[in-house]
Amino acid sequence: MAVPPTFTGFHTRAVHAGARPDPQTGSRAMPIHQTTSYVFEDAESAAAYFNLQEYGNTYSRIMNPTVAAFEERVANLEGGVGGVAFASGLAAQNAALFTLLEPGDHVLASAALYGGSVTQFKHVLRKMSVELDFVDPDDLQAWQKGIKSNTKLCFGETIGNPSGCIFDIEAIAEIAHAAGVPLMIDNTFATPYLCQPLKFGADIVVHSATKFMGGHGTSIGGVVVESGEFDWSNGRFPVIAEPSPAYHGLKFHETFGTFGYLMKLRSETLRDLGACMSPFNAFMLAQGIETLPLRMRQHVSNAKAVAAHLQQCDAVTAVHYAGLDGSRYADLVAKYLPEGPGAVFCFDLAGGRQAGIKFIENLSLFSHLANVGDAKSLVIHPATTTHRQLNDTELAASGIGPGTIRVSIGIEDAQDLIADIDYALAQLTEIKA
Ligand code: PLP
Repeated sequence: MAVPPTFTGFHTRAVHAGARPDPQTGSRAMPIHQTTSYVFEDAESAAAYFNLQEYGNTYSRIMNPTVAAFEERVANLEGGVGGVAFASGLAAQNAALFTLLEPGDHVLASAALYGGSVTQFKHVLRKMSVELDFVDPDDLQAWQKGIKSNTKLCFGETIGNPSGCIFDIEAIAEIAHAAGVPLMIDNTFATPYLCQPLKFGADIVVHSATKFMGGHGTSIGGVVVESGEFDWSNGRFPVIAEPSPAYHGLKFHETFGTFGYLMKLRSETLRDLGACMSPFNAFMLAQGIETLPLRMRQHVSNAKAVAAHLQQCDAVTAVHYAGLDGSRYADLVAKYLPEGPGAVFCFDLAGGRQAGIKFIENLSLFSHLANVGDAKSLVIHPATTTHRQLNDTELAASGIGPGTIRVSIGIEDAQDLIADIDYALAQLTEIKA
C-alpha cells in the first residue's frame, strides 16, 4: 500500500506549517481568534490547564490559537521544538534573557549588535544586577577568554546590524558548550530561509518578526525558538532545573524535558512580563511568512546588484556587504548563508556626515525611516538615528562612521534602485571629503 507523502520542502512549510483549515467552519485562511479568554470544558480541565498538567487555552496573554499557529510556523522553519511569540523583537529578547538569568550572572555578547539591543543589554541587565561584556564577534579567542564561572549566555546576530559581519555560529557554539553555556542567536536579518542557526549548534533563536518575516512593514512582533537540546540540568541553571518559586515549586526541566525552557518562558515570563503578541499581528506575520522564500531571493539578488554598483561609485569609499567578491566573510557566508548574506548593509560616503544627510534627502524611491526588512527599499543614517545612544567607541565597535549609510534593499527592480542611488550621489559633487 502506498505511504502518504510527508511534505518537507521549505516553501511548502512556509505556506502550511502551523495552520490547517478550520475544522468548524472550513475557513482556509488562518482564523484570527480575537478573544481574551476561553470557556473551560469543566472545572477539572480548568484546574489541569492552570497546573500545566494539560496544555490548553486559558487567557490570551499566555496563549492564543492564532498566535500559536504563528509560533509553530516559525519553530518549524527554524527546526526548533517550539516557539513563544511576543509583542516585539525586543520584548522577545528581553523575555528570553529574563527566563534564564539571575542577579550575579554574566552575559557575553557580540559588540556588533543592533543599537536597540546594545541599549537593552546594557541597561536592563544592569538593573537585574547581571554583568555584561561585549566582545569582537570575529575574535574567537576573545569569546574563549570572556567566559567566566558565572557566564550564563553567549549572544550574537547571524548578520550584524548594521555592520554586516557574519557570526561564526558553530565555532562560538562549541566554545560556549565546552563551558556548559547556551548560545542565543538573533536571526532577524537572515531569517530561517537563509540560515537556520540551530543546525549549527545554537540553542535559542530570537527574531524581530517585524522585519523580513512579516515582510510588509505592517506589524511589530517577536519570537523565541529553542532547539530543545541544551542540558539545562548541567548545574549552571538552577533557575530552570530547580523548583521554581514563581510556579509553586515546579521543576521545569525535569517536568517538561526538551520543552522546559520554553514552558518557563511562556508560563512564567510571558505571564509576568505580559508583552504578548496580538492575534491580529500573528495573522499578519504568518501571512507574510507564506512568501518569505520568494521575497528573500529577490531581496538578496537586488542587494548583490546594488552593492556591486555602489562599489564602482566615486563618492563611495567602502561597501560593507559580505556578499561582495573578496569579502573577509566569504568563507562564513559560504558556510552559513549560501544563498547570500541578506539585504541589509552599509556603505560609507566620502563626504562624511554632511554627505550622508544630503544623499538621503535626494532619494525618492528609498524611504527614509527606522526599519529594515520591508518589501520596499529603506535607508537611514545610523550615527544620527538608530545608533545615536552609543558613544564613539561603541559606534566604532559596531562598524559605523559619520558618513555611513544603511540600506535595506527591497524587492523592486534593481535598475530602479540603482537609478535612484545614482541621482542622489550626483547631488553630492560639491561636498568634499
Ligand atoms: N534585532 C534586530 C537585528 C533588529 O534590527 C531589531 C529592530 O530593528 C530588533 C532586534 C528589535 O525588533 P523590534 O523592533 O521588533 O522590537
